[in-house]
Amino acid sequence: MAAFGSVFMPKMAVTNFENNQWSDAAIVSSDSIQMHPGAHVLHYSSTCFEGLKAFRHEDGSVHIFRMDQNIKRLAQSSRLLALPEIDEEQVAQMIKDVVAQFADDVPEPPGSMYIRPTHFGTEAAVGKAAAPSLTSMLYVLLSPVGDYFAGGSRALRLLLDETGMRCAPHMGMIKSGGNYASALQPTMQAKADVEADQVLFCPNGDVTETGAANFLLVDGNEIITKALDTSFLHGVTRSSILSLAADLGMTVTERDFTVTELLEFAAKPGVEAMLSGTAAVLTSVGTLIHNGQEHKVGSGETGPIAQKLRQALNDIQWGKAPDTHNWLTRI
Ligand code: PMP
Repeated sequence: MAAFGSVFMPKMAVTNFENNQWSDAAIVSSDSIQMHPGAHVLHYSSTCFEGLKAFRHEDGSVHIFRMDQNIKRLAQSSRLLALPEIDEEQVAQMIKDVVAQFADDVPEPPGSMYIRPTHFGTEAAVGKAAAPSLTSMLYVLLSPVGDYFAGGSRALRLLLDETGMRCAPHMGMIKSGGNYASALQPTMQAKADVEADQVLFCPNGDVTETGAANFLLVDGNEIITKALDTSFLHGVTRSSILSLAADLGMTVTERDFTVTELLEFAAKPGVEAMLSGTAAVLTSVGTLIHNGQEHKVGSGETGPIAQKLRQALNDIQWGKAPDTHNWLTRI
């Protein structure tokens, strides 16, 4: 199967912000876009994006998962990057329209249609190193996908990085292109050096997240994850998993924790660690690598609670359990 996110539907929804207003949205070819080489985004990284999914149910109907949350986060990212304010209702309509157009192409579970809204500054103005773009483009691109991590549910290996940072500490909650570019070098290095799947960024010992997912721990009946602050992305999957854990009677604890605490925690029998994200869904972490030493988390394998929570999330997404939280938008 093609690599995750490398196949696109031939059309996308698009709107442009010009003269202080958004144009009527249109469905256009997704083969290419036209942009001036002096466009703000190409020089000053005025860009943010989202990732959400549409799922096919057994009766053939198509449902988008937590679209409102992703649109809110796009609005917040746009605001914090001084891009034009998005029209949330317009973006919701664009997402629904383009998914409806390609409803027949939404893969059966475990596949889905990955939805990529993207917003960036288009003003040709290389003099604006310290001023916002007055024009922008916002499109919604679609990509049918399978599993993100090749090998499916294999427990992952994470390198704990206490010196590097994924991004500037006030930028983590923004889903901005530059944050991803800045995480690449340490991630590639970790793959080459210790065959790590991902880097878990822990600046000054504070455990945050990886390059594309949030990090959660399970200890008996308790699920633990870092409390929300500006330094990391407020994942929609993270929030969904915490709700589902509460539904299952688990205690939800949102608090900061250090690498030292994490390593002590990992040595306890029966504990679990996992990554959550739209692409990763919920994947167990089996091994933490720190200062050249490998530490197994609990059994080192995929844990039963991770499996149970992943199943509970998939059951709602795939229409196999009631949508008690109203997370689905039917197309
Ligand atoms: N952190 C980062 C850096 C991410 O890129 C993602 C994926 N969007 C997440 C966390 C998880 O967020 P979500 O559950 O909303 O996909």
